[in-house]
Amino acid sequence: MNAFELYNPTKLVFGADKVNQLGELIKPYGKRILLVYGGGSIKKSGLYDDVLFQLNGIGATVRELSGIEPNPRLTTVNKGIDICRTEKIEFVLAVGGGSVLDAAKAIAAGALYDGDVWDFTVHKAIIQEALPIGTVLTLAATGSEMNGNAVISNWETKQKRALGSKHVYPKFSILDPKLTYSVPVDQTVNGIVDIMSHVFEQYFSLTTDIPLQERFAESILLTVIENGEKALADGSDYDARANLLLAGTYALNGTLPNGVTTDWATHGIEHEVSAIYDIAHGAGLAIIFPNWMKHVYKERVGKFVQYAVRVWKIDPAGKNDNEIALAGIEATREYFTRIGAPATLGELGINGEQLERMAEEATQFGSIGTFKQLAKDDIVSILAASL
Ligand code: NAP
Ligand code: FE
Repeated sequence: MNAFELYNPTKLVFGADKVNQLGELIKPYGKRILLVYGGGSIKKSGLYDDVLFQLNGIGATVRELSGIEPNPRLTTVNKGIDICRTEKIEFVLAVGGGSVLDAAKAIAAGALYDGDVWDFTVHKAIIQEALPIGTVLTLAATGSEMNGNAVISNWETKQKRALGSKHVYPKFSILDPKLTYSVPVDQTVNGIVDIMSHVFEQYFSLTTDIPLQERFAESILLTVIENGEKALADGSDYDARANLLLAGTYALNGTLPNGVTTDWATHGIEHEVSAIYDIAHGAGLAIIFPNWMKHVYKERVGKFVQYAVRVWKIDPAGKNDNEIALAGIEATREYFTRIGAPATLGELGINGEQLERMAEEATQFGSIGTFKQLAKDDIVSILAASL
């Protein structure tokens, strides 16, 4: 088991109607608030009114930045930074899915940085401080509600990059499963795939002797597989939505990487596809992950055998290790297809034109991944298999 440090300062407030605690949760941080949200789902659901009621209740001065795009853009983040500076914002409140939360984190860090916020994503600068942020999450997927990461797209250069810092962990996140009832089927599917992918990135590791981490990871996968299908069958199934929501948080809140070497190559590859084609992150992952698995499983076939047997209940009788591993990978693909996720880039209208460019971008700082270190040619192969 590798040595590690665990740090997570986010207060999680979980349960039905917990938005009624929002005012009290914000109070310690100030009254000048930037409310950040997306394309209008929170207005349709009535959440916007509930949030304003809470903010009015503490006498807050509220400025708004709406229209955060799925795959949030640098230009929009910069608008938020400007508002923070001119309006002397003290607290950034994100209400929405991962894109809104990520944009809020970038805004909070950029507001206190005397330079281009993009610098943080290309290792030109390190985040030293940020405005405090809080979130009301409306979609189970990214884990952004309880981590210090954000992913931003530069639409001009067609780049999608991550920033990370202990300074951008939300001070609190409110998770009400009822707020996810209105998530449409396709976004529910994307969320399921994203959560499972976060687990894969931390589960498929060359590090051994970590049974606790492995079983944590497998329990999250089993929970998502089961409750994902339930939530798709009935979008208002409270327990299914609640389990999905909590699984999404645990998948990427610092629980799973403890003691292991994580991978993250597939996220890196997917970000290149999203950067150029603006596809949903979960849709890209559903296409690429099984192909990554096929490309790398022989590096440590035993781990893939364990995955196949424990998660997908593949019967090992009469099969060799490679056959068991491949059956587990096939079961992953079948599950994604059964819930309605795409299996090929072609289904999203993407052809092979930009494969080289995407592979080049993904490896601009060197090879990626740890389970198998992927060079440009590996990525071209994985993307070609994904067409
Ligand atoms: P999202 O991009 O935040 O939202 C997708 C869509 O779902 C939006 O159109 C949004 O509409 C809608 N939506 C959200 N909640 C809804 C609700 N309750 N009812 C109806 N519609 C709702 O999706 P996401 O998957 O959470 O975030 C994806 C982004 O996060 C990607 O950029 C990805 O790369 C990034 N990501 C971040 C991390 C991290 O650790 N920070 C990890 C993985 C991925 P509105 O705009 O109208 O609200
Ligand atoms: Fe993700």
